[in-house]
This record gives sequence, structure tokens and C-alpha cells, in this order.
Amino acid sequence: MERIQLGNTVFEGANNVYLLQGDETVLVDAGVATEPTRGEFVDGLASFGVTPEDVDRVFLTHWHYDHAGLAGMIQQAGGATVHVHEADAELVSGEEASLIEDRTLQQETFEAWQLPDGPREELLSFLEGHAELAGEDVDVTPFSGGDRFAVNGFELEAVHLPGHSAGLSAFAFEDDGERQAFVGDAILPKYTPNVGGADVRVESPLAKYVDSLVEVVERDWDRALPGHRDTIEEPAERAREIIGHHRERTERVVDVLDRHGACDVWTVSHHLFGELDTIHILHGPGEAFAHLDHLARHGVVEREATDYRLAVDEPDVGALFPDP
Ligand SMILES: [Zn+2]
Ligand SMILES: [Zn+2]
Repeated sequence: MERIQLGNTVFEGANNVYLLQGDETVLVDAGVATEPTRGEFVDGLASFGVTPEDVDRVFLTHWHYDHAGLAGMIQQAGGATVHVHEADAELVSGEEASLIEDRTLQQETFEAWQLPDGPREELLSFLEGHAELAGEDVDVTPFSGGDRFAVNGFELEAVHLPGHSAGLSAFAFEDDGERQAFVGDAILPKYTPNVGGADVRVESPLAKYVDSLVEVVERDWDRALPGHRDTIEEPAERAREIIGHHRERTERVVDVLDRHGACDVWTVSHHLFGELDTIHILHGPGEAFAHLDHLARHGVVEREATDYRLAVDEPDVGALFPDP
């Protein structure tokens, strides 16, 4: 298995595309569809003696443009089958618009978060400037969690890990007695994958994501191959760390509401993250929303229109998170 790294200045940094060669030429994920990345992708494949036309199948971990952007170009070149989880399929095929293009969804989301005019305009112009990242529409082959694929003598098992996106899936396999998985953005070595802003369609995003992290702990893979940066040698440990990070962040949200009284999502985001620019104007309040929503579902905060207020004195935040 080979790794090709592609530039990406927009999201979490350079993207990993994994190349599996054998009877079939198979890729896991495919980079943003910018002109420079297309070039890097073609050169990266060429260094292993492969052209886009040679690719038989592409497995996408999720719909985000930095993972699925080039899938359409690859498919147009040689007719590759593109597999993606059913919950993300229509965003990759182009049948459903993402927040980047969907005006109604933008309006609803920014209203719910009480995004002020300035940041709203800055975010919209940022999103409009990056529509090209999505690339060409794709004829997708959807799968469900638990589906298995025979690939070059290996068996890839799709493991549905929703949260960061609705359809995010890892592909688990065994090689030389080692249990590994391509995990996309389910867990990353350095950053905590965004929850709440990265896919605003996800209901109770934090609870779903934490369940996915518990699944990663339980799977106890020997190694995880993420969508960005380097191999994660102890995926279960990393997943535990991220659960702890979200528990701490929830404590900070409780603290903000305790000190400032009822707040809307944008105000909580401001107290957590301060000034935001570019994609962070989406990810910051999205993250604040995910935590407020988690607290609301457990009755710790009450929502009134777009405001959230503490409903419990000194809540036990630890009780809202598993400790796998
Ligand atoms: Zn992502
Ligand atoms: Zn990513």
C-alpha cells in the first residue's frame, strides 16, 4: 500500500490518498479538485506507474471535498467504481447540495447559530470562492456499514463512524496479522476533527461522534491510516484522548453559560475560540452548537428560541460521556 500526499490549504492540511495495487488498482480517498492538486495527483500516481485511467475503484471515507473532490475526474478518466456510504452518497453524486451551495440550508443554519452579518458575509464569500473544490459529479455506488469488499486478496470492511459527517466510514482490513483501518477524518493524529460545522445535516452530532470514538476504542486496531498527516500507531488511545477533549470542551461551555447567563451559539463560540476567519467561521460555531445541543439533550441546558441557558447547578459533565 502506498500513500500519495496532496496539497490542501483550505481544510485540515495535506490529504492522504492511499493506493492499493494488485489485480485491481484501488484508491482510498481522492483530494480536492483544484488545478494544482489535479497535477500533484497525476504525478503522485505516475511515480507508482499508474494513471487515473488505470483506477478500477475508489473508496471514499466521506463526502468532504478534500476527500472526494477528484473522484469525478478519476471516474471520467477510466470509469472507476466510486464507493461511498449511503448517507453521504447524494452529496458526492451532486444530487444533494452541501452547505457550500445550498442557500436555504445556509440561511437556516446561520439563523440558528445567530451568526452576525460580518462573519456571515465573510464565510459566504469564502465558500463561494471554493465551490471548485467539489469537482465533477460522480456516479456513486453506495454501501452500508458492515458491507465487505474483496480487494486484491484483502477484505475491506466498511465501519460506519458518523459524527464529523453523516456517512463517514472507515475501511478495516487485516494485513500480515495486523488489524488496520483507513479512517478518513474519524480520528486524526493532531487536530480534533470538527463536529457540528463540518456536516450540519448530522443530528445530535456530538453523541454520534462519541459513539463512533467508542467503536474505535473497541475495535482496538493496531494502526489507523488517517486522511491527513501520519499513521496513528495507537488508534484506541487517540480515540480516548478525543473523548476527553470533548468532555473538557463541554465543561468550558458550561462555564461560559455559568459566567455569562443565556447565550446564543455564536456568543458561546466567541467565548471559546475568539475571532475566527475562513472555514473556522463555520467550524467554530458548529462545534459550540454540537456541545450546546449535547447538553440540551441531557437536560443540562434549556433552549429558548436561539438562546441556551443552564438548567442545572453544577452539572456532572463527566456523566455525559462514556469512559471506554
Ligand atoms: Zn472531513
Ligand atoms: Zn479532511
